[in-house]
Amino acid sequence: MKQVRSSEWTGAFKQHRLRLTKPRQLIVDVLGATSDHLSAEEVYLRVHPKYARIGLTTVYRTLDVLVRMGIVSRLDFGDARSRYELVERSGKPSHHHHLVCSSCKRVVEYDDFMDEEVKLIKKLEKALSRKHGFGITGHVVQFLGLCPACKTLARA
Ligand SMILES: [Zn+2]
Ligand SMILES: [Zn+2]
Ligand SMILES: [Zn+2]
Repeated sequence: MKQVRSSEWTGAFKQHRLRLTKPRQLIVDVLGATSDHLSAEEVYLRVHPKYARIGLTTVYRTLDVLVRMGIVSRLDFGDARSRYELVERSGKPSHHHHLVCSSCKRVVEYDDFMDEEVKLIKKLEKALSRKHGFGITGHVVQFLGLCPACKTLARA
């Protein structure tokens, strides 16, 4: 996983008339340095050693701002805590779908979409926006189930 430097985000912050404050910069850096889907607590634990003044509340508030700016996406893997990841990695959109193991919480990301998958989603988006008059700008696709290891355990 390539690292994203927060300097790449300066433009996005300017566009939203927001300053690239130290906490914002550090949180984007932490998310850019991992391919994991971190919870707010995990973000906090990684930022804190570099910036002892930061509190968990600031992390929560900053993540909210980043989500509203479209820099970070918030995910829910069905375990009652939000997870966060960068919308773009190394300046490129990192659109992918998730397979989430509901037992060990392992997450598989894939972006080698099947043609049928892409077609189906486009068709769905079109139909849904017609039906609900909703201007769809994106989607989050996530499948829940058991990973190969947990499936084996469940059978044993
Ligand atoms: Zn997609
Ligand atoms: Zn599993
Ligand atoms: Zn992901």
